[in-house]
Amino acid sequence: MTTEQESREVAEAARESTWAGKGFMREIFLGNFRFDWISPYPETEIGPEARDFCIKLKTFLETEVDSAAIDRTGEYPPHVIEGLRKLGAFGMKIPKEYGGLGFTQAEYTHALELVGCYDANVIAVLSAHQSIGVPQPLKLFGTEGQKKKYLPLCAKGAISAFALTEQDVGSDPARLATTAEKTPEGDYILNGEKLWCTNGTFAELYVVMARDAQTKKISAFIVERAWEGVEVVKRCRFMGLRAIENGIIRFTNVRVPKENLIGKEGAGLKIALITLNTGRLSLPAACVGFSKKCIEICREWSGQRVQWGAPVGKHEAIGHKIADMAATTFAMEAMTHLGSALAMREGYDIRLEAAAAKEWCTVEGWRIVDTTMQIRGGRGYETETSLAERGEQPIPVERIMRDCRINLIFEGSSEIMHLFMAREAVDKHLAVAGALIDPKKSIGQKLAALPKMIFFYAWWYPTRWLGWSLWPKYASYGRLGKYLRFADRATRKLARSVFHGMLVHQARLEKKQAFLFRLVDISNELFAMGAAIARAEYLQQKRDPSAASAVELAELFSLNARRKIRRWFHELWANDDVAKYQLSSNVLKGRHLWLENVKADFGGEVRQLPPVSTGKPVEREHRQTA
Ligand SMILES: Cc1cc2nc3c(=O)[nH]c(=O)nc-3n(C[C@H](O)[C@H](O)[C@H](O)COP(=O)(O)OP(=O)(O)OC[C@H]3O[C@@H](n4cnc5c(N)ncnc54)[C@H](O)[C@@H]3O)c2cc1C
Repeated sequence: MTTEQESREVAEAARESTWAGKGFMREIFLGNFRFDWISPYPETEIGPEARDFCIKLKTFLETEVDSAAIDRTGEYPPHVIEGLRKLGAFGMKIPKEYGGLGFTQAEYTHALELVGCYDANVIAVLSAHQSIGVPQPLKLFGTEGQKKKYLPLCAKGAISAFALTEQDVGSDPARLATTAEKTPEGDYILNGEKLWCTNGTFAELYVVMARDAQTKKISAFIVERAWEGVEVVKRCRFMGLRAIENGIIRFTNVRVPKENLIGKEGAGLKIALITLNTGRLSLPAACVGFSKKCIEICREWSGQRVQWGAPVGKHEAIGHKIADMAATTFAMEAMTHLGSALAMREGYDIRLEAAAAKEWCTVEGWRIVDTTMQIRGGRGYETETSLAERGEQPIPVERIMRDCRINLIFEGSSEIMHLFMAREAVDKHLAVAGALIDPKKSIGQKLAALPKMIFFYAWWYPTRWLGWSLWPKYASYGRLGKYLRFADRATRKLARSVFHGMLVHQARLEKKQAFLFRLVDISNELFAMGAAIARAEYLQQKRDPSAASAVELAELFSLNARRKIRRWFHELWANDDVAKYQLSSNVLKGRHLWLENVKADFGGEVRQLPPVSTGKPVEREHRQTA
């Protein structure tokens, strides 16, 4: 059993403590809205080879992939996997010198977005393989020998998987139990069991995280399925992604040659997190894909379906939903492609933008699917097969909903993304003033930290109040300029709020998740707003035919975002956080057990109420009613 403190220490040790370069979101937390870093919006055109590939991929998805059948049978047909191999889809991100297609992150994002419009199961196999599976960490940290041995195999379609999760390790890697014991020859003996490993049940290669039993340090290894002691124990089945080849993989005395250690010994968790930095950009791409599909579904349906004398889209309640969906999808696309472009930029640190894109796009994507189901009414809830059997169009809203829910949980859950970003939000303040709020520091150490703190805040704090964010700043952005001026002011207010939060909550701040999460939500919305406006401006500059529409979408998105941001700022200091936490503690203590007793009135069991003030764990006493 690990303590909360140990979990924090493991996360802190795996954290990248230095910045590899600039970061738009990092500056937001410091109160600097560096719109000039994202505007002009980066060119998003893809090269001719990627375009040709996407055309072939689209034809393949339309002619060879029967998504309803894949969902119904829960299996990938062999010709689908073979077809993807022939297209080179398993080597999209692998450099040409190793037999891959050599696409950039931006090109890969376009391809995944395309697949996202069609089939989430296909996204899962491609993305688990090359966003987090063997190719990505090898590209970043592998030796030349490892690259030469494994990347050509991966490019040809030797499927790979990423194995971190275990029975007791979900969001908390401190509890990792798989061991890697070093032999006198320098090789490693792996023992342990990994849970929910996507592609794991048919993969040929794994990236496995395991820890030294003595030093407790976690390392990353390339493991081949064919090796003795590697065993697929069970295939797991889920609410959606029905065909996903996911399961429990057991390692029993598996000998891993020392050449298969990725990076340095003990750097495994850091490698996993850095791999996920760009790996996380895949899910937003998938979200853009299915959100666009949802708009198409809603536009067609709400224009055709007549109820109460008008197409349902003409009723204001539905109209508003459609408007929000369209504006949000535009911002989602802008954020995702911007994130991919920034990931390719020299001297740029993508970690916060990738986390923001993952968190924001998966949550908004889920809302969009939920709205689509509402707009489709009963037909949204009906399966595509049943619709087809009744002679209606087999529109798969029910399947999309089942498939996309997991996006908020895996590759870093929404809560973990918030925590990760919140840690970065307070990073500068901890560096400057951490000693003052650290209860472990002595009075002497606190006093010693004072001069550095005074020196920093004497300049930093007043300038978070001052600064010109009024007209004519951003006047060249026309009607969108006022939202940039708002974002500029809100950014300074965000930085002040982070600082005020530290002053008020001090060492307790790390536990004030509701406060911290609101700060992160504000930063994500500011990022989305900046991306949407920069993209609209880019399309205008290009005189793109969609420019006027883009401005309209960016404007509605900004109106919505501004309203949300204002509400979150207000709720930072006027909220029900304490009351809610108190009530949830009482629920956990069993104070409200009576509420769960649906059957009690009809002769079932009635659970005893524990006294409210004990603070002790619930004794689950049961009393039989007559
Ligand atoms: C279909 C599927 C595919 C997957 N593929 C892979 C894969 O390929 N490789 C792999 O290694 N793993 C994989 N996973 C595992 C996945 O990454 C984990 O499910 C995820 O990390 C969350 O862990 P958990 O489910 O154990 O939830 P837990 O960690 O038990 O968390 C439960 C809830 O508590 C929240 N929570 C946890 N800690 C905190 C905290 N400190 N503060 C606030 N909230 C918190 C979580 O956000 C969550 O809502 C997959 C899972 C599924 C279901």
